Amino acid sequence: KKITIAIDGFSSTGKSTVAKQLAKALGYVYVDSGAMYRAITLYAMQNDIISKDHFDIEKLINDLDSLKISFKYNDVLGFAEMYLNGVNVEHDIRTLEVSQWVSQVAEISEVRRMLVLQQQIMGKEKGVVMDGRDIGTVVFPDAELKFFMTASADTRAKRRYKELLERNESVSYVDVLKNVESRDLIDSTREDSPLMKAEDAIEIDNSNLSLEAQFEQLYALARE
Ligand code: C5P
Repeated sequence: KKITIAIDGFSSTGKSTVAKQLAKALGYVYVDSGAMYRAITLYAMQNDIISKDHFDIEKLINDLDSLKISFKYNDVLGFAEMYLNGVNVEHDIRTLEVSQWVSQVAEISEVRRMLVLQQQIMGKEKGVVMDGRDIGTVVFPDAELKFFMTASADTRAKRRYKELLERNESVSYVDVLKNVESRDLIDSTREDSPLMKAEDAIEIDNSNLSLEAQFEQLYALARE
């Protein structure tokens, strides 16, 4: 019998990597909810709503209804990519610059309301693994299996730094660490559905856990 699996946790805890693997092994659909917040952030950056130190929140809220945020499965990659108004933005949403604004966009209640609704529609049929910050608490409070991933800030920043270097982005480790810490702070203190562990979530600290060990643990629980 298919179930819903919610994976929440702090930034760069490797949620998406293990969630993707898990979905593949179970034959489930994987949904990266963070990509949706990133796509709206990219839209704001591309349309002068966000610039250096200016953020026109009213304009963003006004434009929300006209935005098309969707996923399209890529057979070659084996996962769904993010599309913004019909354009593939899977690569562009993962820059450090988007990461530096996304948590402020995710604080806006209107943004959350719209995305949570879309996420609930995507998870209407069981057999979904969704990762994010509020999946086990707000999006699918009734999910049969919930995980809450943690790791030290240093471990997480190192992972993210390596990813950004692999993408040939010229970033400094200090900036990446600062970003991980500031997103954690904004995400866990915002008024609207702050990041927290659902009461019935299983907490996993993967600072010293290999990806294989982590996968085995989640997979075993999902098969129970
Ligand atoms: O998961 P990822 O790091 O890509 O998420 C980017 C940002 O989107 C998070 O730091 C958070 O501010 C926001 N987010 C959220 N709720 C989710 C998923 C992501 O607020 N369910």
